[in-house]
Amino acid sequence: MPQETVYAIASGKGGVGKTTTTVNLGTALAQAGERVAIVDADLGMANLAGFVSLSPGSATLHDVLSGEASIEDATYRLAANIVGVPSGNELADYAETEPDGLGEVVETLRDRVDYVLIDVGAGVSHESILPLGLADAVVLVATPEPAAVQDVSRTIELVDRVDGEVAGLLVTRTHPSGDVPPETIAEKLGVAELGAIPEDRAVRASVYAGTPLVVHAPESDAAVAYRELATTLTGVETAGPSGDEAAADDSSTADPDDAASHDEVSSAITDAEPDA
Ligand code: ADP
Ligand code: MG
Repeated sequence: MPQETVYAIASGKGGVGKTTTTVNLGTALAQAGERVAIVDADLGMANLAGFVSLSPGSATLHDVLSGEASIEDATYRLAANIVGVPSGNELADYAETEPDGLGEVVETLRDRVDYVLIDVGAGVSHESILPLGLADAVVLVATPEPAAVQDVSRTIELVDRVDGEVAGLLVTRTHPSGDVPPETIAEKLGVAELGAIPEDRAVRASVYAGTPLVVHAPESDAAVAYRELATTLTGVETAGPSGDEAAADDSSTADPDDAASHDEVSSAITDAEPDA
């Protein structure tokens, strides 16, 4: 079986933790020595921009899709082993972009890294549905509310419509009690349960710090859960508590032999830090 390398992170509605999941799943894999690219395909939202300080005029996915920039121009190094392609937030350009070009972007990145994660916008627009079929598998994200089953089943229908593959369900922002249990939601939907990410104040703090949670607070409950998700989804072993110290240090990774693959990412994809 070919290794699954491209995941779409999708949900029926916004605000459930897709971007948080994309950034932290990606960073957890990068900390484990995998080369990762994350793509912000939520074209209207510019989510990833919070993790890349773009100066005005910096190339974004918008510019790539409208033919004004190369994929290399719009790819920014986020940390060791991980690059990101921010969507940009120039809504005026939105209509002029060719979302179909996203397939080319994804295939280019697939050749250069071990894992591509696509942060997909909620909704039923072409831009939201297309990535579901481009990915090898779709990670469904929902919060543990009664309406979650309904929301996610709509997304599953969209995945089916584009002949996509569902990896399973991740339930985010769970509480110790009072929620619909993640396994109940997954069971009702007939999909695998990939895990649960607890509600954690460290998540908001990491957003303010502009640093992925798994780096900002590697011992937090949610960070531990994101590392578990990385292993459940990909089989990649993520660092335990002792390895976390090394992982939090940008200059080293879990695998000492990884310097070579890090260099490879840097040179394969433009290493340009945003000039801000
Ligand atoms: P989406 O991309 O689906 O719109 P986000 O990842 O932007 O969702 O998350 C929405 C909000 O919820 C953000 O303010 C984020 O910081 C917060 N959030 C996400 N996951 C958690 C969590 N596990 N605990 C606490 N807050 C969270
Ligand atoms: Mg988002």
